[in-house]
Amino acid sequence: MARRLFLFAVLVAALVAAAVWFADRPGSVTIHWQGWRIDTSVPVLLTAMISFMAALAFVWRLLTTVVGAPGRFLTRRREARRQRGYAALSDGLAAVAVGDRKRAGKLAKQADKLLADPALTGLLTAQAAELSGDDGEAEKRLTSMVERPQTALLGLKGLLTLAKRRGDTEAALDYARRAWALGAPAADLATDLFDLQARAGQWVEAEATLDEARKRRALAAEDIRHRQALTQYERSLQAERDSDPASALALAQKAHQSDLTLVEAAARVSRLLHRAGKDRKAAAALTNTWQVAPHPLLVEAWLALAPAETPLQRVKRLEKLVKANPDAADGHMALAEAALAAKLWGAARNHLETAAVQRPSAAIYILLARLEREERQDEAAAQMWMSKVAQAPAEPAWHCHSCGKPADLWASTCPSCGAPDSLWWGQQSQALLPAP
Ligand SMILES: [Zn+2]
Repeated sequence: MARRLFLFAVLVAALVAAAVWFADRPGSVTIHWQGWRIDTSVPVLLTAMISFMAALAFVWRLLTTVVGAPGRFLTRRREARRQRGYAALSDGLAAVAVGDRKRAGKLAKQADKLLADPALTGLLTAQAAELSGDDGEAEKRLTSMVERPQTALLGLKGLLTLAKRRGDTEAALDYARRAWALGAPAADLATDLFDLQARAGQWVEAEATLDEARKRRALAAEDIRHRQALTQYERSLQAERDSDPASALALAQKAHQSDLTLVEAAARVSRLLHRAGKDRKAAAALTNTWQVAPHPLLVEAWLALAPAETPLQRVKRLEKLVKANPDAADGHMALAEAALAAKLWGAARNHLETAAVQRPSAAIYILLARLEREERQDEAAAQMWMSKVAQAPAEPAWHCHSCGKPADLWASTCPSCGAPDSLWWGQQSQALLPAP
């Protein structure tokens, strides 16, 4: 503003100076042209010339305004169209979010027509198509989104969801891998990719996914450690199949360290250490896991450390494990069974009564009936316990979160449906509840 004022002042000063200069130096001009003769003074001629140029500038300005009008009108119309397009796009996305299929479809068509940019409206049209169950159209739209770097991740994630829904794990793995390669720290993507790699038995690749997820902070550290335990456990199995016992043991130990609550890893470490003659280390691994996740598998592995011991020795050795976590019903069950075999009736009764309070089950009533018969030959008391068996809760077992089916043994992936990390340990009655 100040600069314009300054320029204006300079211009006025120059004009005044010029006027004074010409006034001080009068003179006349004569023009002969085509039989015309004009006599005038220099200031008049100059004024006439300046006026003529100003008129010319004005006419030029008028002309450009008139000529440019249709173009400006078109630009405004295009702008209004774009505005309506964006409004349809955002309203359409809102309709998708609340699951309004009809409205989403209508707005998607509108946005598509108004914006005429499939890369921009791809997400809405794809989601609207998905909502209305038109997977073919959704796939087409999502594929066009993959071509544009800004929407590639969304496109691939959408394609991944579609592939998972139709059960095409091979295509799903391909989409997940490509989406993950784009570098986003997305937790759902990390989980999907890991699960698909685990389903496909690609445990080495699955472990690489976890390493990358740690770098990107895509998953919680605890979650990564648990999944890492699964990959190390599976790689330990593979090393054993490849006749590499040293790696098998090292990987099993890593799995055990990664997740102490993974009972199968602790039992495996114990078995492999026992084979290597390291029973003390084996017992330590079992005790560590027993403290955080008591389980019959650990008792089994514990007993396997000394298969030739006498019933009394067995009771003594089991007591060491049970002491590490006295709240575990499985420990008292195991001790009761060992005490029965050693004919330590009092101890057997104590442990059975403790276990019955902690977790009543058919197995406990059967052992109590056996105790009544063996210790006191009391058939009536035995019958009383046996009458409770039918109504007693079943023993805990492995069940799948994903398909709900029971499994005899633990595995990294469900033997029925192949879902990774889906088996949980619990009683049948709990299995009927929906997965947490
Ligand atoms: Zn399953």
